[in-house]
Amino acid sequence: MSTPARIVSRTCPSCTGTLEGQPGHGLLVCPTCPTALDVSGESPIRLATWRPRDEPASSSCRLALFLFRLREGEANILWIPAFRVLGRQKPGRSLGELLTADGRYDPPLVEAPLATRCARDLRQATAVLRYRLGIESTGPPPVSEVRLVSLACRIKSGTLREPVSGWTCEADRIWPALGAPGVSPPTPAPSAASEAARLARQAQAVAERQRTWAKVKKVFEKG
Ligand SMILES: [Zn+2]
Repeated sequence: MSTPARIVSRTCPSCTGTLEGQPGHGLLVCPTCPTALDVSGESPIRLATWRPRDEPASSSCRLALFLFRLREGEANILWIPAFRVLGRQKPGRSLGELLTADGRYDPPLVEAPLATRCARDLRQATAVLRYRLGIESTGPPPVSEVRLVSLACRIKSGTLREPVSGWTCEADRIWPALGAPGVSPPTPAPSAASEAARLARQAQAVAERQRTWAKVKKVFEKG
């Protein structure tokens, strides 16, 4: 089997196996042990990888998400997908929003190989976290712990379903492609730079609304 040139290979710091990743993304995953290496920052960060201990259904089809635990309280968690959905976003909540908002899915976890790849590294996930929390891009985010978790999914008639949230998506829109290591995306995936620019525009819009509200409040207080 030939190895596509797009795959980045590195040695796993835990088992000395070969880490796999996507070009342009700073998160490498070990296919055989519960280890990931995030190289998006100045120095590499070794992450353990996890899955729910009592999965409703075990499956080789998995989606990876970051589970951030915030300092404000034990139950304060935020799920941010480490995969991407290609093409137009359908209306409704994303998988991360469903797991975060509806019942705050916070299962006991066990260390396990991730068994899927990622299209978002720790730095990109933190940018999304800041946006979701509505906080400025300076200073550390209020995170006490971050875990890289994969959730079992099912594919039926081309539709992927995550059983806990009931979230569904056309399976061929998930990137990196499910169960097809090394396959390039059917359409160009957003680059880290374009995602950062998009988030910056969104953050700017939020800041603008906050400034407007502050002005309005002042007028009210004067009046
Ligand atoms: Zn390993």
